[in-house]
Amino acid sequence: MAIAQSSILQQGSTIGIIGGGQLGRMLAMAAARLGYQTIVLEPQDKCPAAQVATSQIAAKYDDPDALETLAVLSDVITYEFENVPVEAARSLAQKKPVYPPPAALEISQDRLGEKQFLRECGIATADFIAIDGQKELDDALAQMSGRGVLKTRRLGYDGKGQHLFNRPGQATRHVFSDLGGVPLILEALVPFVAEISVIAARGTDGTITSYEPARNEHINGILHRSTVPANVSPQTVEAAVAAVQSLLTKLDYVGVIGLELFVMEDGSLLANEFAPRVHNSGHWTEAACVVSQFEQHIRAICGLPLSDCHRHSDCEMENLIGEDVMQLPALLQQKNTMVHLYGKNDVRPGRKMGHITRLK
Ligand code: AMP
Repeated sequence: MAIAQSSILQQGSTIGIIGGGQLGRMLAMAAARLGYQTIVLEPQDKCPAAQVATSQIAAKYDDPDALETLAVLSDVITYEFENVPVEAARSLAQKKPVYPPPAALEISQDRLGEKQFLRECGIATADFIAIDGQKELDDALAQMSGRGVLKTRRLGYDGKGQHLFNRPGQATRHVFSDLGGVPLILEALVPFVAEISVIAARGTDGTITSYEPARNEHINGILHRSTVPANVSPQTVEAAVAAVQSLLTKLDYVGVIGLELFVMEDGSLLANEFAPRVHNSGHWTEAACVVSQFEQHIRAICGLPLSDCHRHSDCEMENLIGEDVMQLPALLQQKNTMVHLYGKNDVRPGRKMGHITRLK
């Protein structure tokens, strides 16, 4: 479909980015390469994104004055993390285009609504039960034969805010209060054989393109490695792509999305969650595709033609967590390896400091 010139954001226009972490940094770098300016809203001064963006508004994400300034200075606004206050995104959307749509943000912030929505899109998920108290937890666990993953409905990430029940009879007494006494969801424990994710994009004209799924391995709840191809059957790849297409269409989405899926022994899929943003498991696209997920997102929100997501190499991406980054000299000597650091000075355990992508 031809894209109308008028819907394309002109060169030199400004993209507002809410959030100043590494995803915002890589979005700002991609935006600069396409001739756009960027302004980052992030309280932390000299954050990873602000180091490479055109400018920064150093304020909280819900600061009304800062939001007003962001709306005035930006031609289009996006975000790099899913805990952006929905009210902030909605108020901005009354003044300038906000992509992905705030409704996608809102759905992704509550695991319960997210799972219900995935099912409305025809995408299978694990069974789940909403939990608001100790008795409900005991009853729900009994229904699930004592096995399940208990998660906070909101604000969980990298496996935080979760409790695993992997054998019947485990104590539940302190679990509800240990997780903060907040609304929870108990999910059936999924006996998956692999975890994959699919990164896809939808343009302002409704065009959808999708990268090949990656196979993801986690250590201590944090993504460790993404490998492409994912070594799953063509039918599984097709089902993953169909699922993300259905999700993007139902959300009337614009931008890049990441959908995480469990692969079952028979090759069928259960969706875990989606992220309305560029995704850690899509960092490999930077080295193994001509157009990365970051550029694809910028293209989508600026009304530019999308890439077909062609991949020129097999690859694996590994996160550099905490002290992993100390191995930099050795990493730089690895063959066919792209190193990407996030400009974080404080090395802390569990902190994402960078990543490498090795072409195979
Ligand atoms: P999440 O925060 O939902 O992405 O979960 C983090 C990790 O926990 C996932 O990548 C899985 O490895 C594991 N996990 C999450 N939910 C389940 C589940 N219902 N059954 C089995 N493992 C799960």
